[in-house]
This record gives sequence, structure tokens and C-alpha cells, in this order.
Amino acid sequence: MAQTRSTCPYCGVGCGVIIDSDAGQVTGVRGDPEHPANFGRLCSKGQTLHLTAAPAVMMQVRALRPMRRAERGAPLRPVVWDAALDEVADRLASIIERDGADAVGLYLSGQLLTEDYYAFNKLAKGLIGSNNVDTNSRLCMSSAVAGYKASLGSDAVPACYDDIGLAKTVFITGSNMAWAHPVLYRRLEDARRADPAMKVIVVDPRRTETAAEADLHLQLLPGTDVVLHHAMLHLMLWEGLVDHAYIQAHTSGFDALRDRVREFSPAHAAKVCGLREADIVMAARWFASGSSSDAGRRGPTLSLWCQGLNQSSSGTDKNTTLLNLHLATGQIGQPGAGPLSLTGQPNAMGGREVGGLANLLSAHRDLANPAHRAEVAALWGLTDVPERPGKTAVEMFQAAADGEIKALWIACTNPAQSMPDQALVQRALQRCEFVVVQEAYTTAATVAFADVLLPAASWGEKEGTVTNSERRISRVRAAVPPPGQARADWQIAVDVAKRLERRLPSRRVPGSAGSMFGWADAEAVWNEHRETTRGRDLDITGLDWAGLAQPQQWPLPAGATVGAARLFGDGVFATSDGRARFHAPAWRPTAEQRDAHYPVSLTTGRWRDQWHGTTRTGTLARLQDHGGEPAVEMHPQELTRRHWAPGTLVRVKSRRGAIVLPVRPSDSVAPAQAFIAMHAPQVNQLLGSARCPQSQQPELKHSAVRIDGVSLPWQLAAAAWLPAGEALAIQQRLQPLLAACSYAHIRPIGLMGSSPEGPVGLVLHLAHTTPALAPEAVAEALGLADGAVLRYDDPRHATQRRVRVGADGRLHGFLYSGDTAAAGWLLDWLQQGQPVGGLARALLAGGALPPVARPSTGRAVCTCHGVGETAIAEVLRAAPEGNDAARLAHLQNTLACGTSCGSCLPSLKALVRQIQPVVIA
Ligand code: SF4
Repeated sequence: MAQTRSTCPYCGVGCGVIIDSDAGQVTGVRGDPEHPANFGRLCSKGQTLHLTAAPAVMMQVRALRPMRRAERGAPLRPVVWDAALDEVADRLASIIERDGADAVGLYLSGQLLTEDYYAFNKLAKGLIGSNNVDTNSRLCMSSAVAGYKASLGSDAVPACYDDIGLAKTVFITGSNMAWAHPVLYRRLEDARRADPAMKVIVVDPRRTETAAEADLHLQLLPGTDVVLHHAMLHLMLWEGLVDHAYIQAHTSGFDALRDRVREFSPAHAAKVCGLREADIVMAARWFASGSSSDAGRRGPTLSLWCQGLNQSSSGTDKNTTLLNLHLATGQIGQPGAGPLSLTGQPNAMGGREVGGLANLLSAHRDLANPAHRAEVAALWGLTDVPERPGKTAVEMFQAAADGEIKALWIACTNPAQSMPDQALVQRALQRCEFVVVQEAYTTAATVAFADVLLPAASWGEKEGTVTNSERRISRVRAAVPPPGQARADWQIAVDVAKRLERRLPSRRVPGSAGSMFGWADAEAVWNEHRETTRGRDLDITGLDWAGLAQPQQWPLPAGATVGAARLFGDGVFATSDGRARFHAPAWRPTAEQRDAHYPVSLTTGRWRDQWHGTTRTGTLARLQDHGGEPAVEMHPQELTRRHWAPGTLVRVKSRRGAIVLPVRPSDSVAPAQAFIAMHAPQVNQLLGSARCPQSQQPELKHSAVRIDGVSLPWQLAAAAWLPAGEALAIQQRLQPLLAACSYAHIRPIGLMGSSPEGPVGLVLHLAHTTPALAPEAVAEALGLADGAVLRYDDPRHATQRRVRVGADGRLHGFLYSGDTAAAGWLLDWLQQGQPVGGLARALLAGGALPPVARPSTGRAVCTCHGVGETAIAEVLRAAPEGNDAARLAHLQNTLACGTSCGSCLPSLKALVRQIQPVVIA
């Protein structure tokens, strides 16, 4: 048994993990108690990483060999690596020769390691001579980057995680941190316990679990953040809460801002934002003066934010106006005080460090700056670095759809699901002459468009580094070799680059010898990257590979022994005159607003247990339980008004497309608004490509939609346990069949409360206007076609029912085609794994109610211990009376829920608040 220290590959918290492995296989994972991001904690996603790396999972979903398509429409067929690499190099070289370097675009990912990013960036900007390199970080962090640069002079996060424990006020905006950054949220819970006077303000159009726990929730209308920020500053000015001495000494541009915010009184802002004036006033006071009753004492105040500010057509304005509040109150660079943007992806920051965006060069250099281009050219031994700006993410796909970009190389990201305006993306991928997909998972939707598929190594199989939200660089280490023939991403980039060096005209200074890509390993790539940082704001020349045994924050220049926890504490900023800049933007509403045709504001966000497109987390039944079937969430009043029962299928339509989903009541969503999780496969058909003019980040958080009933009388519901190691493969085999349906959902399921590996099966829900497929095809795939299967057929009503009860007397599978009213309780019985005794025939009877009453499991809450809402409610009703903390402790002692990763704690606390003990008189 070996142990390997590494880093979680999911969110930007960047938790350290220890991977257990044996005989080339990952066998376990736990939090690294010495890692300063998490001190041993992991969330529900990190804690199950080893299960996603289990051979039985990987063999079903991983890309194991290079593949190529003989022609469009033909299946992908295996080829040897050399043939695949030669084909990529030949096709790229011939397109570059014919159409120029800018006919090629590279679309990368914030999940790549820094070394991968560095290699790709040098390949594109140095070797090919095109700046058409952009990444999915453009969809995630570019507004925060643009905001930091505009206000502070550099893309440098001033605060650190320790500040959560030191702040008196924490201002969380546009972030459901309890779900999206759970381990950091655990630190906030600790801080609140240690300092009950701490105030937490949450700004969010939804009443998320993060918002429900706040001292003050500002449930503003989507897109009105700039108005709120301006109004808070207005109030601070009115009440003398700004720090004039700090403004005078360390900033510029305040007069224009003061003039701007004059018109944004809290009363006016309350109307625009849909808030109470008193709440805006309270937020401004807490922000400016901390939780102290002494209004003259300032902070410390920490801001935390994520996509709610960034994914907006005014994303940069939202960021700069938030930074205005920190600068106006001097709340920056001091313990507990500062703006701390939370990165969505594990290495969005590392990618920026090496210049992995279309407008950047290595070590935070700007492409538009001739001196910076000359520096990078000198570092790389080139005659020049091209001046032409590269295409940003949406621009790149628009250019491919327009025929301007002829070749796309897509690595470690899934634009056929994750980009907005999917109609445009699909056109781009279809029209593009040559599409290379470098990917670890064959299940990624973009693989369907690949001319060549290059199998990439993934978590637990790669060496390199990542940088988390607090500028901390951590090592990523390989515990096991990549499966099949998969290779590290940087290695694949180098393999192609070396071939291209022989095929493209040299751009190197005369007399250069050897390859530009002569790195022997990831350490060599990192060493070159380190050298590019010398003298820059992120200087890490004081670090070496061995020194990275301990995660370190940048900067850490030569001579330093430890990185900087905080930046700008001396009031000197990275601008030409050392002063931070105030910005005074006018308010611009969302790109689309509700109107008579599209009367609903759609917002998007994350689920607790899923990550991005779910290619990895979606493989585990245990992580699917909490979210369940994707749905459009609406306020219960909206369902009542429209006479829709929960689960009714509805059509959600925007100006770009329409999708069908079940509707789910949720009082976290305001009336006239709706919410769909970003993990829902088709949600980006609805969202548009309107983007922030400064950051080019698309408005993935908002769209105007209409939601109407839809008539899909043919429905099919089925679920079954499947032989070990087959469920995911069967899921893939069924996908083409499901494509014929107007609505189709399929996901893995497990036995409730089972060991993590427990029985794994599939559940399906299909709907169409007429029978879209033969139920036999689904029954066959689920093992419900023959053998000991009970049947009921009613051809007159197009009804077919199949039920399989195993030799153990438990329900093993069912299929209902036609009337599916029984599907809900049948699935519950299947997942409960209770014997069905003599009720087997009754399971064929249909009907919304089961033949005997049996408590349903209810919504999954604690997926570590398989505890559902029903069991929790029972325990809470029978609990001894006491305060909320005592009843939570009783619940945890009784059911063990919330005692493992803690991701469900906000849910448990909400249930404790809602469900009071039944007092027997
Ligand atoms: Fe991974 Fe969870 Fe930590 Fe994020 S909070 S890095 S997903 S373990």
C-alpha cells in the first residue's frame, strides 16, 4: 500500500488529499491534515474521488487509446499514438500553411495543471504564432481578473483563507459557498462558532443554503449588484464611514465615484434591486464598521464571491464596484480584511499565471504591451510573439462557425455542454475542418465531434502543480499510472509540438538549436515557468520543486522563505503610480430582461455533490442522489398559479432554444424567477453569449425565458440493478435511443445507505408525444426482457409493465410504459432494498400509491451515510426538546448524518430549524 500526497481536482479551494494505492490502483482517499487549505477535511466530492478512479468505473468511461474517425459520421476507431500525433501535426501544419496561424484555435481548461497550460501556451503563441488560446476559465474568472487589474493593477488576490477566521463581517455575494466551496464554508462555520458576534451577509437572488444561514440575506433581483454596491457606498459616505485618510493616501478616482453614487440612495436602490432599504443600510454599516457597535471602528471585512458576479454582461463592473467598497473603507491587505474571489476551477489561477488566456502572456504579462511581448520572445528565444489579439472563448467558436477558424484543439473541457449558446457551438464544431479532442472521458459530449481523440491522464495519474483561490501553489502527484495508453496533457502537447517544429517555418532567433519543448518531465516545465516570473508580481524564484513539498503562496521571490499571505497591506498597488483606482461605472441591467414574451428570469448555479459537466462525479450513484433528476425550480406559488404538480414536464424556452424538464417547487427561488442547475445537460441551449465588454465573460447566470406546459403523453419510467461494472456502459449504449425522445433522463442509482460501492443500477425517465422507442429495447438493456420477470400488457392503452423480483425477495427492477404514476414509489422501494414479500404481483398494478404504506426515504440529505429526509424528520420529531445545537447533536448521534464530510450540515441545520419535536400533552 502506497500513500501519495496530491490535490483535489474539483473546485478552487484546492484541498490537499492523500491517495492510497495498491498494485497500480487507487484504493482510497482522505484529506491531508497538513495541507493549509483544508487541514484534513474534504467535501462529498473530494471524499469520493477514489471511487471515481475505481477500475470498474474507469474501464467504462475513460478514453484508453487514441482514436480517429475515417470521415465525419463514421465511428471513432483506435490508432497507435504515433499515427494520431502525426495526423494532428500534419493537419494543423497544412491548415496553417494554407490559411495562416490564426486559422487554428486552442480551447483549454482550468482543470489542466500549470505545466499543461504552459506547454500549450508556448506551443500556440511561440511555435504556431497565434494567440488563439483561450480556456473555460474565461467562463469562470475573467471578470474577477479584469476587476483586479482595473482596480489594483494586477491579477492578484489580496486576501487568504485565514482571513475567514479573522473577519468581523463576511460579505458573500454571488456564491452558494456552502455547496460550491464546502470546505471553505466549514471554516466559516468554525469562525462563526468562535466569534458569535461575526456578521455574515449573503447577496443572492436565491435563498440558497448559504443565504439561509446568513445574518442578513439580500435577495436582490438578478443583475442589480452594481446598484447595491453604489448604494452601500452612498450610505457609507452619508454616515461618514469611509476612510478618507486611506483614500487620500493610496487611491485615485474617488471624486468621480462620489459623484456617481450620489444618485444611488438606498431608497432608490431598494426599488431597483427589489430589497428593503433598511437591509441595504444595515449591510453598508456592517461592511464599513464590522460587527462592532462602535460605528467608528472599521472591519475587518472580508468579501467572498464567485460566478454570481463574474458570469455577467457587466461582470467587471460588479467586481470593480465591490472593490470600491474595500478601497473606500481601507479594508484590504490587513488580517481579516480584503476581497477574496473564489475560483470555480482547481487551476484557473495557475492558468493565468502562465498566460493561458487570449489576452495574456507568461507571468501575468499583457499581450497588448510591446515590452511584455519582447520579454516573452526573449525568454523563449523567438524573433517575436505575435501582436494580434487572440480570440476569446465565445469569439473562438463564433470564428469556427463562420469558417474563419479551421482547426480546433480542445483539451480537458467539454464545450459541447458547457459553453453558452449551444446552437452556435454545435455549428462551430460541425463546420470546423479538423477537431482534436484531448480528453480523459469518452462520455464528454464534445467527443462526438472529434476527428481525433487523444486520451489524457487524469487525477491521481499526473504530476504538476495547481494554484488555488488564495494564490497557494500545491503539488499534484501521480499515485498510479494512467489507464490504457492515456498520457499527461503537457506530454501530448509536447509530442505534437515536436512534430510541428519539423513542419512549420521557424520563428526562433537565428542560431537556435534543439527543440523549444525539450522538457524531460513536469518539473522541467515548471522550472521554465518559474524563470518567467522573475521580477514579476507573482515571482516564485525563491521556490524549487522540492520546496513545493509544502504548498506555498506566491509571491515567493529569491531570498524569501515563505510566500505572502496578504497583498497591498502597505497601500502600494501594482499600478504605475502605486495607487489603486476607483471605478464609477453606470449601472447596466442584465443583457436580457423579462418581458411579455419571456416573463421569467432564469438563473443557474451548482449542486452540492456534482461538479461542472459531471463527467467524473456523474459516474457515482452516491453523488447523484442529492440532486436527483435535473428540474426547473420555481416558487410554489408559480406552480399553484399554473396548476402544475411537482414533476410535471414543462418547456423552458429562451430566444436561443427550448428544453423540457420536470418542474420542482422551491421557495428558495423568488416568484417570476426560475433556477436550473448548471449540471443539467441541455441548460446551455437556453443561455446566451452576451458578455462583459472588458472581460469577455459570458452571462451564464441569466437569461429571460418563458415556461409553458407541454403535452408528452407517452412516458416511460424504468430502473434496475445491473451487473457490477456495467451500468455506465449500458447508460452510454442507451444514449442514441434516448435521443429520439422529447425528454430523456438517465442516471446511475445505488442502494440507499449502502456501502459506497453498493449495488449500482440505472433509472430512466423518458417522454414524447408518441411512443418514441420500443420499451423492449430499454427492457433488454436493463435485464427486464426475460427470465423471472412479471409482465402486464394492455395494447389498447399502450401500456407495458415489467417487474423483476429477485430470489432474495427484493425488487430488482421495473419498467412502466404508458401510465408511469407508480414510478416514484417503485424507485423508492428499489433503493430501500426492503423485501417486497407477497406483494410482487401488486407491483404491476400501477397507481400513484403503493399497495401498502411504507415510509419513503425522502430527499437524500447525507450521502456519506445514506440518510434521507424522512428518517431525519422522524428523529427530530421524537427528539428531546432543546436548542438547535442540542437537537442537531442528537440527530448526528442517532443517524450519523453530517458526521463525515459535513457537506450536508447546512441542510441538517435547516431541517432542525423547521422540524420541532412533537410535544405529547
Ligand atoms: Fe475538492 Fe471539495 Fe475541497 Fe473543493 S472543497 S477542493 S471539491 S474537497
